[in-house]
Amino acid sequence: MKKGLLIVISGASGTGKGTVCKELLARAPGIAYSISATSRAPRAGEEDGREYYFRTRAEFEAMIAAGEFLEYADVYGNYYGTPLRPIEERRTAGEDILLEIDTQGALNVMERCPDGTFIFLLPPSYEELRRRITGRGTDTAECIAERLAAARDEIRLGKRYRYAVMNDTVGDAVARIQTILAAERLRADRDLTQFDFDI
Ligand code: ADP
Ligand code: 5GP
Repeated sequence: MKKGLLIVISGASGTGKGTVCKELLARAPGIAYSISATSRAPRAGEEDGREYYFRTRAEFEAMIAAGEFLEYADVYGNYYGTPLRPIEERRTAGEDILLEIDTQGALNVMERCPDGTFIFLLPPSYEELRRRITGRGTDTAECIAERLAAARDEIRLGKRYRYAVMNDTVGDAVARIQTILAAERLRADRDLTQFDFDI
């Protein structure tokens, strides 16, 4: 059985990771989504166990101590972490799994899982990034300024990823990601074992 892909989509806040991942999952229903744990409060409409596992800081710290995370990070004052066990279980069963995480988390996953598919999502411009963060309407003016300043540093990390995808339109960004995934599934280091050759 071939191991499933570990797909990591990352990029600066407001780039459109959430939007693009949702559309990718709609078009490629075979991909499982890794539900993260977080210590932030749920937003209106969010449900425990669907968008995130919502935990207190103390509960989150107990999970860290128990080694339950593949990675975790402090993102704008709240903990976010990727539970390890579902990832191993799904990949071993041959299923692909998608992580939508921040840049610190992605760099940590690169260390632990170098066989992952690391995709860096970029906005078309800083101006457009500002428009997207402002237009989302979930952040205060101070929070927007902080995220834009952080975005400049985060975008410099893009060259550490194997793939870079511009999110100009959601449809084009998702199509590019699907091209990457199609190629990743054909990589020789994943694929040759299925052929009956002694390579
Ligand atoms: P992230 O998860 O990276 O923080 P979101 O998915 O929340 O970003 O997107 C930020 C805002 O930008 C949202 O209001 C979303 O609707 C909008 N957005 C996302 N992708 C695009 C796009 N390709 N074109 C225009 N607006 C977009
Ligand atoms: P939000 O609070 O807007 O849902 O997410 C804030 C940021 O945390 C986003 O950049 C999101 O990608 C990131 N994030 C969500 N889950 C995880 C996770 O498990 N680990 C890390 N490192 N970042 C995460």
